[in-house]
Amino acid sequence: MIKRVEADTRDCYQCGNCSAGCPAAFTFDYPPNQVMRMLQVGLVDKVLDSTAVQLCVQCLTCTARCPRNIDVAGIFEDLKTIATAQEREVPEYVKTFNKAFMGAVARFGRLPELYMMGMFYLGTMNPKMAMGDAGLAIPMVTKGKMKLVPHKAKGADEVSRIYKKSMEKAKAREKAEAEALIEAAAQAGAAEGAKVSEKAATSEQVAAPEKAATSLGAPTPAPESEVAE
Ligand code: SF4
Ligand code: SF4
Repeated sequence: MIKRVEADTRDCYQCGNCSAGCPAAFTFDYPPNQVMRMLQVGLVDKVLDSTAVQLCVQCLTCTARCPRNIDVAGIFEDLKTIATAQEREVPEYVKTFNKAFMGAVARFGRLPELYMMGMFYLGTMNPKMAMGDAGLAIPMVTKGKMKLVPHKAKGADEVSRIYKKSMEKAKAREKAEAEALIEAAAQAGAAEGAKVSEKAATSEQVAAPEKAATSLGAPTPAPESEVAE
C-alpha cells in the first residue's frame, strides 16, 4: 500500500496550493506539500510518525486545488490507515483526537462536533483546554451552527461496519507486510552467513597445502635481505 502512496506523489511539482488551502495545516508538523516531498524522497517513516497524518480532517480542499490532479486527501487517509494499523507512536493528544473523531463518525455516520470535542476533552482530562475552547463553542451552538444533541445519520450502522472492517483489513495487511519483511531480512541474513562460511572454507583450503608443504621440509622463501645480497 505504501508503494502505491509513494507512486501517487510522483507528479507533485511543489506548487504549494494544497498547503495554502489546508485549513488544518497550522496544526501540522509538516504542511501537505512537504509531506508529498518527503514521500517522494522516501522519508516514509517520518511521515507515518507525523502529526499531520493524524490531524488531517479530510476536507478535500487539497485534492480540489491540486493542479496535478493528485488526490492529496486520499493519500493522507491512506497514510493514517497505515499509521493506525502499525500502531505508530504519536503524541497522546493526537491519538485521543483521532480516536474521538473516528469514534464519533463510526457511531453516528457523520461528525457531531460538540459530541466529538466532548469525547476529546474527556480523553485528555484537560479542563483548562476545554474551558479555553468553550468561548468558541457557545456562539456556535446559540447560532445553530453546532447541534447540542448528536443525531445518527441514515446508514450510520453501515458506516460503522465499513470502518471496523477496513481497520481489521488494514491491520491484517500491515501484519502480513511486516512478517514478509522480517522473513526477507532473515533469508538475506542466512545467505550472507552462508557466503561468509564459504569464504572461510576456501581460505582454509588454500592455506592447507602451504602448511603441508612446510611440514614436509619444502624450502621456505628466503628473507628479502638475503635475496638482495
Ligand atoms: S484533506 Fe487534510 S491535508 Fe487536505 S486540505 Fe483538508 S485537512 Fe488539509
Ligand atoms: S497542490 Fe499538488 S502539485 Fe501542488 S504541492 Fe500540493 S500535491 Fe504538489
